[in-house]
Amino acid sequence: MIERVVLAKPRGFCAGVVMAIGAVEKAASSESKPVTVYHSIVHNHTVVQRLEQVQGVQFVEDLNALSELPGGGDTIVFSAHGVSPLVRTRARELGLNTIDATCPLVTKVHTEAKKYAREGYTILLIGDSAVHQEVIGTQGEAPESTVLVGVLGKTGEGLHDPHTVSVPDPSKVVVLTQTTLSVDDTRRTVEILKRRFPAMLIPPSEDLCYATKNRQDEVKRIAGQVDAFLVLTSTHSSNGMRLLELAEGLCGRAYRLESAADLDTLNLEGVRSVGITSAASTPDDLVQAVVERLRGLNPGLIVSEEGEWEHIEFREPKKLGPDGAALT
Ligand code: SF4
Repeated sequence: MIERVVLAKPRGFCAGVVMAIGAVEKAASSESKPVTVYHSIVHNHTVVQRLEQVQGVQFVEDLNALSELPGGGDTIVFSAHGVSPLVRTRARELGLNTIDATCPLVTKVHTEAKKYAREGYTILLIGDSAVHQEVIGTQGEAPESTVLVGVLGKTGEGLHDPHTVSVPDPSKVVVLTQTTLSVDDTRRTVEILKRRFPAMLIPPSEDLCYATKNRQDEVKRIAGQVDAFLVLTSTHSSNGMRLLELAEGLCGRAYRLESAADLDTLNLEGVRSVGITSAASTPDDLVQAVVERLRGLNPGLIVSEEGEWEHIEFREPKKLGPDGAALT
C-alpha cells in the first residue's frame, strides 16, 4: 500500500514548450489550410496526438517529406528543438510561410555555434544522440567545424568519446552542449575535455537550460524521502529520460510512465512512498491522472507538493513569409 506521494515542483511544461505548443495551436485555429510542423513540436506522444486529432495538425520528419508539401501559402512551424539552416532554406524555396517555435535557449546555442565557427574554432558539441533533433539543428549551423561528443558513458552512433576525440588545432576549441542533458554527466564530460584541451573555451553562460537543471535538482531533493520515483515522459524526451536515469540512480527504483494506464504494468510491491516528476514536454493533466489513480488504489494517500513554480515566459513567434517579412 502506498501511503505518501511527493510531487516534484517544478515539473512538466517549461517556457519553451508552452511557447511552441501555443504557436501551433494558434496557427491551427487561424489558418484555413492544415498546419504542418517540422518534427514533433515537443517530444511527447500525447501532445502530438492531441494536436493531430483535435486540431488536424500534420507532422513531417525530414527534408524529403517537407519537399512533398504543396508549398506556396502553406504554413510550417519549426519545432522547439530547432532546425538546421538546410530546413529553413528548403522551406523558403518551397514558398512556405514559417513560424519558428525554436526555444530561445536553443537559438542561443545556434548563435554560439555560428560565432565560434566564423572565428575558426572547432566546436565540441556534447549531446546524448547524434540523431536528436536539437543536435542535428545545432550541428547544421556549422557542420564543417563541429565534432559531436557523447555525454559521459554515451558514445558510438556518431558520438565521439571525450577521452579520445581529436581536433585539428587544440588551441582553438570550444565546447557547446545540447540543452537537456544530465547536469552532472555534462560537468564531468566538460572536465575530461578541459583536461585534454586546456585552452578549450567554455562559453560564459552554460548551454544546459534552466528547466533541465531545476527538474533534476528537484528529483535530487526528493529522492532521499521516497522508496521509488514515477517519471512521466515519452522515451524520446531527452530531459525526461535524464530525470528517469537520475531518479533510478538515487532511489534504486524508478519507473517511466506515458500515462496513468501504465500504472497497471508496474510492480510497486514494498513501495510506501513515491516521488512523481515529469518531463518538460509532459502535460500536467497526465500527472494529475496518475495521482487520482493512486488515490483510488490507496485510500488515505497523502499527497504533498513543495518547491516553487518557474515564472519564465517566452515571446510568441511571428509568422514570416518566404521572403522573411513578418505576416502577423
Ligand atoms: Fe527550452 Fe529547456 Fe524547455 Fe528545451 S527544455 S524547450 S531548451 S526551456
